[in-house]
Amino acid sequence: MQNKYKFILIVFILLIFNGCTQTASNKDGEITITNIEDTASTKTELIVEKLIVNNAAEILQKKEVPVLCYHRIEGGRNDVYSVSPEVFASQLQALSDSGYNSILPDQLYNYLVHDASLPAKPFMLTFDDSRKEHITIAAPEMEKRNFKGAFFIMTVTNNKKNYLTKDEISQLSSKGHTVGLHSWDHVMVTKYNDSTLWKQQVIKPQKALENMVDKPIDYWAYPNGVYNHEAAKELDKHFKMSFILLAKRDSIYPLQSVRRMIAPPLAPEKLIRSMNNTFN
Ligand SMILES: [Zn+2]
Repeated sequence: MQNKYKFILIVFILLIFNGCTQTASNKDGEITITNIEDTASTKTELIVEKLIVNNAAEILQKKEVPVLCYHRIEGGRNDVYSVSPEVFASQLQALSDSGYNSILPDQLYNYLVHDASLPAKPFMLTFDDSRKEHITIAAPEMEKRNFKGAFFIMTVTNNKKNYLTKDEISQLSSKGHTVGLHSWDHVMVTKYNDSTLWKQQVIKPQKALENMVDKPIDYWAYPNGVYNHEAAKELDKHFKMSFILLAKRDSIYPLQSVRRMIAPPLAPEKLIRSMNNTFN
C-alpha cells in the first residue's frame, strides 16, 4: 500500500469574513485547516485532502467498464469492422433503453486510479480510424441519446476524402467528446524500433492533434489493437491510458492496456449480452 495516497492542497480565498480564528477539523479522509486573517477581510482556507492512487495490482482487480470499439458506420460491407447506420442506431437505442450511461476516458481513468465513482451501468463508446461518418452519423445518433465517446484519429487522413477534416475533429472535441490518437498512419507499435518511428507515429501527431483541439491529447488506441510490454512502458510517458482490443492486460501497465471489444453488427440484445460476457 505504499504510495497509496497522494495529498492535494486546495486553497480558497473568500472576501467575506472578518475576525481572526484558526480551526482544524478532521473528517473521514479529509483534513481541513482554516486560517482566518482579518487583514483586508480575507479568509484563507487550506484543505488537505487524501487522494487515493491505486497501484497496478489494485487497478487490475477493479471491475472492468465495457468499452466498445467501432470503425465504419456503413452498410453493405459484411465484416466486423462495419456496422450499418440502422444497426448502429438500434444498438445505441438498446443501450439507452437498458439504462447504460456512456463515460469518457477521463472518468474511466479517475475510476481506475482514484476510485472515483461512475454512473450506473457505465460503458464507453470509442471510434477508430477518423472516418467521416463518425461526425455525420455516429455523433448525432449519440447526441440524441445523451451519449459521449472517444474518437481516435490517424492524423495522416486529415482532410482526405471519407475522413474527418481538422475542423470536424475540433468540432467533436468542442461537443464534449474526447479526441485521442491512433498513430500517424496506422503502423503498429511493435514496429517502432527506433526514435524516428516514435516521433513520426506518436510525438508529432500528438502535438498536431493538441494544436487542432487546443487540449491535451491524453489517450491512445493501438493500431490493430496490438501492443507489447515495451511499447506500453514507452506510451506511459505520453498518455494517461492506452486502449488495446481483447488481449491480456499488462501486469505492470494496466492503464496502457485497457481492453475494448469490437462492436460487431449484431442485434442489440446480442451485443449487450456479448459485452457483459466479455468484461469482468
Ligand atoms: Zn485502426
